[in-house]
Amino acid sequence: MRKLSIGLRLTLWYLAIFALAQIIFGGGMWFTLRHHLYHLVDNSLQDQVDDLKNLIQSLGKDPTLASMQRGVTEAYALEHFGNYLDVRTENGDLVYRSAFLQEHPVTLPQPDSTHPAVFKNRKLEHRPFRFTRRRIEVNGHIYSVEMAVPTDDVTKTLSEFRSYLLMFAPLLLLLASGGGYWLSRRALAPVDAIVGSARQISGTNLNSRLQKLNTGDELQRLSDTLNEMLERIESAFLRVTQFTADASHELRTPISLIRTDAELALRHPRDEAEYKESLRHILKEAERTTVLIEELLSLARSDSGRETLNMHPVQLNDTLRGLLDGWRQVATIRNLQFSDSIHAQDFFVMGDEAALRRLFDILLDNAFKYTASPGSVRLSLEQKGGNAAITVQDSGVGISTEDQGRIFERFYRVDKARSRDQGGAGLGLSIAQWLVAQHRGSIELESRPGEGSSFRVSLPLSTAPARNPQPA
Ligand code: ADP
Repeated sequence: MRKLSIGLRLTLWYLAIFALAQIIFGGGMWFTLRHHLYHLVDNSLQDQVDDLKNLIQSLGKDPTLASMQRGVTEAYALEHFGNYLDVRTENGDLVYRSAFLQEHPVTLPQPDSTHPAVFKNRKLEHRPFRFTRRRIEVNGHIYSVEMAVPTDDVTKTLSEFRSYLLMFAPLLLLLASGGGYWLSRRALAPVDAIVGSARQISGTNLNSRLQKLNTGDELQRLSDTLNEMLERIESAFLRVTQFTADASHELRTPISLIRTDAELALRHPRDEAEYKESLRHILKEAERTTVLIEELLSLARSDSGRETLNMHPVQLNDTLRGLLDGWRQVATIRNLQFSDSIHAQDFFVMGDEAALRRLFDILLDNAFKYTASPGSVRLSLEQKGGNAAITVQDSGVGISTEDQGRIFERFYRVDKARSRDQGGAGLGLSIAQWLVAQHRGSIELESRPGEGSSFRVSLPLSTAPARNPQPA
């Protein structure tokens, strides 16, 4: 089932609350008015009873029943209140009873010492009356008095007041619902504007932004936040597009070289040595392509968050020593000096050993690639504060200050022709930087063109893993 719009729901809530407020307010007013009017009636009945009391008192200290009957009848026979009066002595002897009450006897609860006056509403001959029954004491004698007054005015006023309420309440509700709906539409109009512009945005116009609101409220915060999110999505999207374009470009070069080599070899019949030479070229390019594809895959996996490292305490000294033999051979082949200074003390870091080997291989590979013979490469491990500092230093070509800020970018190479010749696509340092970040470390570079470069990786030291207890 389709849900109601926020505007309509707000209006309905508003209506419900308004109706409830009207009921409470109207009902309260009606009851207050009723209470007030009956209070006035009760006061006038009270005054009448007081008058009667004075009358009985004026008849002497111990009046006889007959003198009382006479006195009260004379005073009340022609009086308006006399129409609805019943007076008896304590023994139940009748002092006065109006013809009306004789015709319409009314039974009211007996007043007692805690409630000397009882008030009740009764309807007689379709007319409303307010009755009171009370015990009065005159000169030590108790009398029971029943007196009534017609309350047509009170009931009329109350029913008119009720009619006004019932007449105006729906009108007010109607006005309130119209006003409420208009207000909610007005308040939510910017949401429609946001929805409208958000619908226009797709992959082809990610540079578009939602309509800027200047309402200074939650809706402006919402549109600003969405715009900031769009900005982040756009730059991520651009990075991916750029990465795809650069990757395709990088892949095209070795593949076209392989193709050219194969075409040239097949164009004329050649001797075995020439075919071998062509195949060697093809193999070299294929190897480079494999390395490139592995680097691209690794970066793609790190971007998508699927490249997970298996972190555990790693002893850095051993990891680095394990790399030395291989790089010593490279040094010999390239006629470079290779030295190391690995601290004797054990350094542990939380890390993935294979990833750390890869990180230092990238740095050492660069150091050897960009250092010409005669030259030197040095690998060192020492403690700097709470970190293990691993430095790969070379006496190679160095990097200008300008390029130092860019060499960690993907596909960035200082000297494109030279770098490619050495086998790099400009991805090594991007991967190294990602690996360092995964280990919560940092990487710094110091370099001078013509003098050499020094890459320093700092990794937070961790405690040595607890050794398994030796069996006794
Ligand atoms: P590549 O695979 O091309 O070496 P990297 O990302 O590892 O890619 O390095 C980016 C660029 O930084 C290199 O092309 C090179 O120009 C420069 N560079 C990296 N390491 C060194 C170094 N030790 N000495 C001089 N230049 C370096």
